Amino acid sequence: MRADLAIVGGTIVSGEGSRRADLVVRDGHVADVAVPGGDVEGATVIDAGGLLVMPGMVDTHVHLMDPGPTEREDFPTGTAAAAARGVTTIIEHTHAHPVRDPNELADKRAALRGRSNISFGLAAHVWPDRIETLRDTWRAGVSFFKVFTCATHGVPAVEGDDLRRTVRAVAEFGGTCLVHAEDETRTADAERALREQERVDPGILSEWRSRDAELVAVGAIAELAVETGARLTIAHVSCPEVAEVIVGARGRGADLAAEACPQYLLLMEDEVEEHGPLRKFTPPARNRSRVEMDTMWDLLRDGTLTHVATDHAPSTLGQKRAGDFWDAPFGLPGLDTTTRLLLDAAATGRLTWSEVVERYSEDPAKRYGLWPAKGSLHVGAAADVALVDPSATVRIRDEDVISKAGWTPYAGRTTTGDVVRVFLGGEEIAADGVPRDERTGTFIPGPGTARER
Ligand SMILES: [Zn+2]
Repeated sequence: MRADLAIVGGTIVSGEGSRRADLVVRDGHVADVAVPGGDVEGATVIDAGGLLVMPGMVDTHVHLMDPGPTEREDFPTGTAAAAARGVTTIIEHTHAHPVRDPNELADKRAALRGRSNISFGLAAHVWPDRIETLRDTWRAGVSFFKVFTCATHGVPAVEGDDLRRTVRAVAEFGGTCLVHAEDETRTADAERALREQERVDPGILSEWRSRDAELVAVGAIAELAVETGARLTIAHVSCPEVAEVIVGARGRGADLAAEACPQYLLLMEDEVEEHGPLRKFTPPARNRSRVEMDTMWDLLRDGTLTHVATDHAPSTLGQKRAGDFWDAPFGLPGLDTTTRLLLDAAATGRLTWSEVVERYSEDPAKRYGLWPAKGSLHVGAAADVALVDPSATVRIRDEDVISKAGWTPYAGRTTTGDVVRVFLGGEEIAADGVPRDERTGTFIPGPGTARER
């Protein structure tokens, strides 16, 4: 068989399991998944002996600040970090420079031409005074709508009637929303009280962005999901109680997905006391014990938490530490570390290799209409491939972070399993953790429009 690239001798991993097979690539797509040792003509042959062959990871919650506050991140740096770790598709949205109508989408696409190392979709923001533009924006090709139920990062809250109108509209035209769910009244009241007390200590975080505020907002969204049938996802589920509300709504017919992020699987609530603004993200980490953390991993493993995303929202150490705790920007960098942390979870038995592929590639691709072109290595899929050495050990260090953040909350941890080579459409985009930075990634229109092939 004629081929451009053949990845031979490896173990192909999908959600269905693992098997020894050769991957044959032609014209940027998987042309065959063949019995090992077959003859391929004219191909560049990559020896994947001892390696796992995974579809590239699909990270559907990423903020690259471009256009926007590019002193925090930009598309070249953020997608270089992603490429190095085997993430070959992202869905991006930037709060400081939102997409709210077809024109803003067109402008953003134009601004990003030639700036991405990987495939990317773009999400829109719901703005309370622009709800009538949702349908046209969906048809123009956004991947989802981001909704904030509380004013955060300069994005206004969508509440009450506005929220109901939004969810109804999205249900009608078959769109989907990613919802940041914290209750506006509760967070605003808590902030007022804490500021009156002149508190600036990091301990304010869990009082300000409380578990109750998250539960109330998730409960309201869950009701709307049941009532309207809209496809919704709760962003960054922080604790088992939130997952329980989601499970209850699913039992009543809601199509409600639950996003897991590494910070809720691996960081503890009290770390904010030592690390201050470097643990300021919202909702905050809520784990108080190893048992609670284990429960979150169990929820990911059994699919209650449907998929993993980073919520990559980087700031440099300088930006994080300027001003007092109130002033510090929310968010963590994640693209440099998420794949490694999940591979380590497989090495330590918290997940299987198949579950890593399901939760960070297949399932998010399916949720956002990217599958099977992305998130799979079936014949016809994009040849987006991460080769993983399952026994490589890595010490995570700030110095190795490619994101402009230049640091990671996981520095000092040793992980097992690492991405060693990465291909986008059959072309190598990173090797041994070094991205090529050739910026060959292109925009993928969302499912509301006819997909370009
Ligand atoms: Zn986010």
